[in-house]
Amino acid sequence: MAEQNLFEMVKRHLCSCSTDLVLSENVEAVLKMPRREIHVSIPVRMDDGKIRAFQGFRVQYNDALGPTKGGIRFHPEETIDTIRGLASLMTWKCSLHNLPLGGAKGGIVCNPKELSTTELERLSRSYVQVMFPYLGPDRDIPAPDVYTTPAIMAWMMDEYSKIAGKTTFGSFTGKPVGLGGSEGRLDATARGGWYVVREAARDMGMNLSGARVAIQGFGNVGSFAALLGQEVFGVRVVAVSDSRGGIYNPDGLPVRDLMVHKSGMESVQKFPGATNITNEELLELPVDILIPAALENVINRSNVQKIRASLVAEFANGPVDNEADKSLFERGIQVLPDFLTNGGGVIVSYFEMVQNFNMDQWDEQKVHRKLEKKMIDAYRAVYTLALQNNAPLRQAAYSIAVARVVDAMKMRGWV
Ligand code: NAD
Repeated sequence: MAEQNLFEMVKRHLCSCSTDLVLSENVEAVLKMPRREIHVSIPVRMDDGKIRAFQGFRVQYNDALGPTKGGIRFHPEETIDTIRGLASLMTWKCSLHNLPLGGAKGGIVCNPKELSTTELERLSRSYVQVMFPYLGPDRDIPAPDVYTTPAIMAWMMDEYSKIAGKTTFGSFTGKPVGLGGSEGRLDATARGGWYVVREAARDMGMNLSGARVAIQGFGNVGSFAALLGQEVFGVRVVAVSDSRGGIYNPDGLPVRDLMVHKSGMESVQKFPGATNITNEELLELPVDILIPAALENVINRSNVQKIRASLVAEFANGPVDNEADKSLFERGIQVLPDFLTNGGGVIVSYFEMVQNFNMDQWDEQKVHRKLEKKMIDAYRAVYTLALQNNAPLRQAAYSIAVARVVDAMKMRGWV
């Protein structure tokens, strides 16, 4: 999946932030290793009667600030290093957004597109059976990520509840609204991302109204980024893509029609009035804002010089590798770092936990209001520190996030 190892990438960012912080060697060593890693083999009976063993992971990176939290990915090219990197990022994300949570991530090496619904359900339930001792509302709370959905979270929560002998809504987030899920969770990552983009555009003197936007990825994050971008934030979405390729229309794409087209064709390609392009071409388009919302490492040494956007908003985790990040900063292209920009998902997941604990259900307006405040607070803190230190936003974001985790570790007496 990734050319550069995401875990190494995150560790290098950690080193860059330590120029702003005084970190002892011991502290740095603790921050660079996951606290716990669980590797499992998950046997599943397939529809044809045969048993297949899938490889699964859960990495609980750091729980100084609270129980760990992070998504579960189903992907054929999943690796433990990607999961370690994502678990580390979750730690900094929860800290930066001031949530009482640590960071984790999980994954199963599988191709969900090749599994039937019943096989997918058995795989999801088996993952919970084998991980049960390590999960729970006060231990580690998973959520959806690449190729996992609210339906999968519902099965997983149900399996957890069966084993626990009691309904435990707070064990998983991103559940359907009718089953302990929160209003506003489905589009929270994209909506939160747009709040940050709006603030950054203001600081850059960029008018969002009619700004040209290209979005890589048309899943949960990418499709809502396109829809909200067009309908709520007034931008012109000129290009989108998925794993099969992309489409481009410089006059703008009607996103709602495109969503219907994608659900029928299983691809955004061949959309009437748009030109088919590759994922590589999408990244190099002359746009104001580029939103990578698919996988990691897509902007790297090989294409960074061809990026023409003024603002790169990382809605995906780790889409810009270290070398490209440095090069974009030198060229004056603003990069909104992943764990700042895509924090909306975990923020509303946290709201979901709070509602579950209180047997409560907030309305959508309340969720949006509270999400907006959290995103703006985090962006403002990062922007102010970056200006002060004449540093990239990413470095400032790491400095704030790491300092909070280190303070918590010190107060606990770990370091
Ligand atoms: P998803 O599975 O819903 O969508 C992934 C999208 O990426 C799909 O449209 C898929 O076709 C596309 N894709 C896959 N391989 C591709 C490739 N090689 N080139 C281009 N597109 C490709 O996943 P998602 O939940 O939207 O997650 C997308 C990114 O956002 C990931 O980096 C994830 O870690 C991150 N993220 C997700 C959430 C969340 O709440 N879902 C929160 C924070 C961060």
